[in-house]
Amino acid sequence: MIEEVAEHVYAYVQPDGGWCLNNAGVITAGGESALVDTAATERRARALRAAALSLESAPPRIVVNTHSHGDHTFGNCVFPEAVVVGHSGTRTEIKQAGLHLTGLWPDVCWGDITVTPPTLTYEDRLTLHVGPVRVELMSAGAAHTINDTVVWLPDQRVLFTGDVVMSGVTPFFPMGSLSGCVAAVRTLRSLDPAVVVSGHGPVAGPEILNETEKYLLWVRSLAKEGIEAGLTPLEVARESRYGPWEGLLDPERLVPNLHRAYLELRGAAPGAPVDMGALFQEMVDFRGGLPHCAA
Ligand SMILES: [Zn+2]
Repeated sequence: MIEEVAEHVYAYVQPDGGWCLNNAGVITAGGESALVDTAATERRARALRAAALSLESAPPRIVVNTHSHGDHTFGNCVFPEAVVVGHSGTRTEIKQAGLHLTGLWPDVCWGDITVTPPTLTYEDRLTLHVGPVRVELMSAGAAHTINDTVVWLPDQRVLFTGDVVMSGVTPFFPMGSLSGCVAAVRTLRSLDPAVVVSGHGPVAGPEILNETEKYLLWVRSLAKEGIEAGLTPLEVARESRYGPWEGLLDPERLVPNLHRAYLELRGAAPGAPVDMGALFQEMVDFRGGLPHCAA
């Protein structure tokens, strides 16, 4: 589960990367440590805490949140010694969402979770120092959510993308922006990372950025054809199925992804509000049941 990806830097990978099985990062040097994201449930967050303490006996004093989603942030409360750091918009989103995610999968044992939003926020960029390691937080704007943060370690060339990028898992951007995802992936490529730790799925190299961009452009072209043919996103998904992306985990995300693509092709701004409850339900109907959440 914990994988050294560079000197001082570890990926905490939760297979298989499906719904709510997110990745985190541990940066540890000079007797200090910091986390990139936590986990969805109390039990999983405590396992992450134990893994971090196995690397460095002092608990992490910084937790960075890449975005608001509960699978990345509910576990913040298991690190009371840490300052939680995130984009100001992520703080707002976390406060608005509360424990909403738990209602989507009521059978999951979430444990004792207290919503703990960032208390230290930034807007465009922020640099943290963990021992000798420079940790750069960069706003990716609206992409997977309305406010995404990527974490870049320039000396190690390690990139933590949050859910802007998924590895072997279908991208998911109905809450954010398709054009924002495309722009973000292109910016991330320009950083020239050696290692990419995505928000879900195995650790990858820079090729995952190209794969992600291909998927995004495929959804955009499907949406364009669908609009021209007068079809709804659901009709397009029924016709096209998953095209070359059948092998990705959770491919049914195509339906809400197409909705976001339709909105933007029709002129909506990145991150424009949608009825996520309705989109989630349409995805469940398309799939023929609630997707499994193994959290
Ligand atoms: Zn997410």
